[in-house]
Amino acid sequence: MKLDQIPVRQVKGVSAQKEGELHAFGVRTVADLLDYYPFRYEDYRLRDLAEAKDGEKVTVQGVIRSVPLLARFGRGKARLTCLVEVEHFLVKAVWFNRAFLQDQLTLGREITITGKWEAHRHQMTVSDSEFPDRGKARTGTLQPVYSVGGGLTNSWMRKTIGQALVQFGDLIEESLPADIVAKHRLMPLREAIMLIHHPDGTAEGQAARKRLVYEELFWFQLKLQAYRSLQRSRSEGMAFPIDSATIREFAATLPFELTDAQKKVINEITQDLRQKHSMNRLLQGDVGSGKTVVAATALYAVAKAGYQGALMVPTEILAEQHLRSLQRLYEGTGIEVALLTGSLTARRRRDVIAGLQMGLIHIAVGTHALIQDDVMFRSLGLVVTDEQHRFGVNQRSILRRKGWSPDVLTMTATPIPRTLAITVFGDMDVSTIKERPKGRKPIKTHWTKPSAMERVFEFIEREVALGRQAYVICPLIEESEKLDVQNAIEMHATIAMSLPKLKVGLLHGRMTPAEKDEAMGAFGANETQVLVATTVVEVGVDVPNATVMVIIDAERFGLSQLHQLRGRVGRGEHQSHCILVADPKSENGRERMKVMTETDDGFEVARRDLELRGPGDFFGTKQSGVPDFKLADMVADFEVLEEARDDAAELAGAEDFWTNPERASMRSRLLQDPLFQGEQLD
Ligand code: ADP
Ligand code: MG
Repeated sequence: MKLDQIPVRQVKGVSAQKEGELHAFGVRTVADLLDYYPFRYEDYRLRDLAEAKDGEKVTVQGVIRSVPLLARFGRGKARLTCLVEVEHFLVKAVWFNRAFLQDQLTLGREITITGKWEAHRHQMTVSDSEFPDRGKARTGTLQPVYSVGGGLTNSWMRKTIGQALVQFGDLIEESLPADIVAKHRLMPLREAIMLIHHPDGTAEGQAARKRLVYEELFWFQLKLQAYRSLQRSRSEGMAFPIDSATIREFAATLPFELTDAQKKVINEITQDLRQKHSMNRLLQGDVGSGKTVVAATALYAVAKAGYQGALMVPTEILAEQHLRSLQRLYEGTGIEVALLTGSLTARRRRDVIAGLQMGLIHIAVGTHALIQDDVMFRSLGLVVTDEQHRFGVNQRSILRRKGWSPDVLTMTATPIPRTLAITVFGDMDVSTIKERPKGRKPIKTHWTKPSAMERVFEFIEREVALGRQAYVICPLIEESEKLDVQNAIEMHATIAMSLPKLKVGLLHGRMTPAEKDEAMGAFGANETQVLVATTVVEVGVDVPNATVMVIIDAERFGLSQLHQLRGRVGRGEHQSHCILVADPKSENGRERMKVMTETDDGFEVARRDLELRGPGDFFGTKQSGVPDFKLADMVADFEVLEEARDDAAELAGAEDFWTNPERASMRSRLLQDPLFQGEQLD
């Protein structure tokens, strides 16, 4: 019998009602109950009073040296005091509302008291006490504290988990291969689970925690690594015949020389494309590092090899922009590029779909409309997703379910701190562009108060006089898209009035695709010099002549978002500026503005962002694929995470992982995960 098949009701003391309460906490089986770890411990270990800090909660042992005094006050309230000699000090022990203890506090009796130590008054407000002559249940231990509520109390939980360990503890089986346990000198699983609920000392408790953290991270990583090896082992992927000359010829037609970093990642990608297994690669590079041309090169190579490609982006504006740049880059090569977004006319859409089906169109650029049911390619070879860091592990299998197994390149401009990269993108290979194209000047970032808008306008005017252009971004108002649009419209009117000599454009989410396209087009052609926009321009938009980015109410934006917006400038040879207009009174806004003015390195921004927000919120969405660990802390336990990743990769990377009988129990555990649903394994 496996613990995850035994209903929690079988633990003595769990009534039907308690069972219902446990279900509310996600505890259904004995395994769930044993995995319900305490989130902290109450410390009843004896302390040396001389080392205790003022205000600290400590447990000490001593001898009663005075007759207790009982004072009654208020409605049935009582205060009990007596002197306790602890290490030759006299400590005044105070109990509230424990009048019943009075008779037990006899002169000369030993006592253990736990409470808040007030050093200057030599006094302790006692929360718990025990008499050693009656046995010490708590003294010297760490008592687990569980997250409970409803009809479940902490002491009931302690008792019940203790009971479950007595009844079923022997059934806890080692879950890890012996060589891994030996390599990291991990505590056996059974012992670790026992100890996490009943720790009997720091060192042991630490070892138990380490084992369980490893356990958690290992299984998470094994899932990713096994998935990755499964994808790799499948020979359904295509080995594209790409020769280096094709790439060199294409590079020679570019209006600029590729940076070394771009060459390096193009190399990594083409290596993958030539292999038979399907590529699953993450390309991360700071904003403005030139990822688009890398994607264009990969798509070009695949098209020249006789296959089709798709470039998927989050917004229609971006799709249009990429369409134009690809068309420009592929001019005269015979490669057909077409747009496929939700706002095509039915007729146009039909034509594009037919073109893809017949293979007349080589590369489709679009939004999520690209992976809708009726879209079929003749021979889809490569899918590139741009700025799609929300396209998580589970979503990536959508393409495969459609019967395609194209190579996949995911590009992101939000550099992922290493710890998150390992967890969220652990199943992918990673290429990184750290360097920006030569001749780019660092963007100067300034932070100003809302009352200084006049000066901001003057600054825009001066830059425009020099031939440059400016963005003014209004924040998204979460509660109401309408308000948000209203905001942008008002700002547009204000600026048009304040800068009467300039042409001011407007771009927001409520405009029709044609209107958006027109607004973007006019700004791109420098027909409008200022573009007032909502965050629709956040990602990917590329107008190298724009040198000023003004962000209104900047405190409303997260760090990564601010960095993305800032990345819309600094894309040409001119000095660029980012002006953050933020309320100086906003507490954590200030922290973010500080980071922004201190660095324009996206990797550094991401690191600080992770620090400020924590891993769960890093991507700003729950569906980010950032797992919720019970015990492990991705940042603090990073070393263990790396170990677990390496071990899992080695194990899952072995030729026989999917066939070796010794791995059968691991496989069956993995196959319960949704990631593997519908997989055919032999
Ligand atoms: P991102 O990585 O943010 O997507 P883009 O691909 O939009 O960056 O590139 C930013 C700008 O830099 C574009 O205008 C692009 O044409 C230009 N660019 C890309 N690579 C180079 C290069 N090697 N030298 C000069 N300019 C480049
Ligand atoms: Mg881009």
